[in-house]
Amino acid sequence: MVQPMKRIVRNGKRILVPATEKVVDHKGYDKQRMRNEPERIRFYKSARWKKARELKLISNPLCEQCSTPDDPVLAEMVDHMIETNTSEGWERRLDEEHLQSLCWSCHNKKTFSK
Ligand SMILES: [Zn+2]
Repeated sequence: MVQPMKRIVRNGKRILVPATEKVVDHKGYDKQRMRNEPERIRFYKSARWKKARELKLISNPLCEQCSTPDDPVLAEMVDHMIETNTSEGWERRLDEEHLQSLCWSCHNKKTFSK
């Protein structure tokens, strides 16, 4: 008898697992991510986003999480405070109030602490 399988997304890869296996990923999160993905990829490559990101780093060159006047840390990237795979985050994707300058270390902490 063939074991029933189901398709899940784990670490960004679609894989097949036995249907009885417990899925630890948040299903809705992945589903929404997949739905938005092509648009999101286009957005991150768009001139509008590159411009917004550049302006943010010019006005806020230091990491907003860990930089202090005594120990300044340069920001290396601009993060969306609300993930762009949520509808609110997506609507505000170019809203400067919703962007924060981060260093890689803080960005990774944010990304992997979910
Ligand atoms: Zn930082």
